[in-house]
Amino acid sequence: MVIGGGPAGLMAAGRAAELGERVLLVEKNDSLGQKLLLAGKRRCNLTNAEPDMEVFLSRYGKNGRFLHGAFSRFGPGETLAFFNRNGVPTRTERGNRVFPDIPDKSCETTPGGAQRVLDCLMLYCKKGKVRILRRSAVTALKVRNGRVERIVTNVEELSADRYILATGGKSYPKTGSTGDGYRFAAQAGHTIVEPTPAIVPVKTRETWVKLARNFNLRNVRLTAAVDGRQVDQRFGEMEFTNFGVSGPIVMDLSSYVSDWMKQGTVTLTLDLKPALDLPTLATRIDRDLEKYRDREFGRALTDLVPSALIPLVLELSDVPGDKPVVYVSPEERQDLAQLLKNISLTVNGLWSFDHAVVTKGGVCLNEVDPATLRSKLCENLYFAGEILDLNGPTGGFNLQMCWSTGYTAAQGARLESVVN
Ligand SMILES: Cc1cc2nc3c(=O)[nH]c(=O)nc-3n(C[C@H](O)[C@H](O)[C@H](O)COP(=O)(O)OP(=O)(O)OC[C@H]3O[C@@H](n4cnc5c(N)ncnc54)[C@H](O)[C@@H]3O)c2cc1C
Repeated sequence: MVIGGGPAGLMAAGRAAELGERVLLVEKNDSLGQKLLLAGKRRCNLTNAEPDMEVFLSRYGKNGRFLHGAFSRFGPGETLAFFNRNGVPTRTERGNRVFPDIPDKSCETTPGGAQRVLDCLMLYCKKGKVRILRRSAVTALKVRNGRVERIVTNVEELSADRYILATGGKSYPKTGSTGDGYRFAAQAGHTIVEPTPAIVPVKTRETWVKLARNFNLRNVRLTAAVDGRQVDQRFGEMEFTNFGVSGPIVMDLSSYVSDWMKQGTVTLTLDLKPALDLPTLATRIDRDLEKYRDREFGRALTDLVPSALIPLVLELSDVPGDKPVVYVSPEERQDLAQLLKNISLTVNGLWSFDHAVVTKGGVCLNEVDPATLRSKLCENLYFAGEILDLNGPTGGFNLQMCWSTGYTAAQGARLESVVN
């Protein structure tokens, strides 16, 4: 029995059936893969083409080592082969992100690449005659003598020889991932590493961020520090929001923010001009102000920063926007250079699970066998997908983890049935 019809559960069910098992997939929603359909803005970034396996695994942080076995069985290469073989051609884009290769035109309509991926998995399950129970919310696992005896759903009690728990995490709960599986795993004796939102916008104390909200900043550098000690640095795209910051580089470092906040005050320093060192930037400012010496300060910044950012720069600068450029002193010019390279933000939290792409935390990996994904505490229980204490950055890493663990849990469960 596979509990949860997301990417991990579908892969597990399809593979177990392919191996000759009779499989029942239990899903509480009307339809399967609701979160998968949202993946990659419906285009579905299904894996990453990073060629070095050690680098790939390092993207999951220290827990990435746990995935060695699952990846050697069904890694990114096998994932591509699987989808390509089953009617989903793929293409690799910026940052090694892999998407279904469908003509751009069809992306404009709702189905998109994610629907292709879901259809492929549904067909995989259909071929293996997986029985699917929809609208069946599991409410409890009945565990006795170190074995799951049966499950209780909102309509009935059901039993199986082996169970794969693939109920996902807590993020985007409207898609069905409400963290139920953590409770079930705990019923089987498992430790749950505290779930926190990850790949999520960050809230800041500063309210001026909203002056430039939704404007996409490209090629900027963001440095994170805890009590003044640098802990992370990213280069790329981000944006301000009504309550803080978001965008790719923010979302990726957000996974660490809850840990950092336990250690001290977390600050983010934004460098809008990372390609220029301070003296070069100061010279550039002098040149611009010379060019626009007849203007007011605010209107002289147009070549230096995008116009959407000027209100924010003026808010943070001590120089009034209507001050004639000829009266802007050398110190004020120097301060402007400093400001553009050091916009400081104080983090005061993360957005909620409602906005988080994934969950950090989950079933503690020490209690799961990495080779089979079998529980070390409950002999006929297996885990797959985001329910585990595994999460990666954006770029296809999270779905790859689901494919690899779903496949491996099915192999593990099959192995046990053969042994017995
Ligand atoms: C907006 C968005 C975009 C994303 N884009 C990408 C991307 O492009 N690339 C990428 O790699 N990752 C992406 N992710 C992350 C990725 O989608 C998840 O990591 C992945 O869906 C997790 O799969 P899962 O099968 O473990 O769990 P889920 O997808 O959460 O599926 C769990 C299933 O279990 C069911 N369930 C839960 N509780 C019960 C219960 N009590 N009884 C029965 N059924 C239950 C749920 O209804 C759900 O169908 C994205 C996430 C979001 C939110």
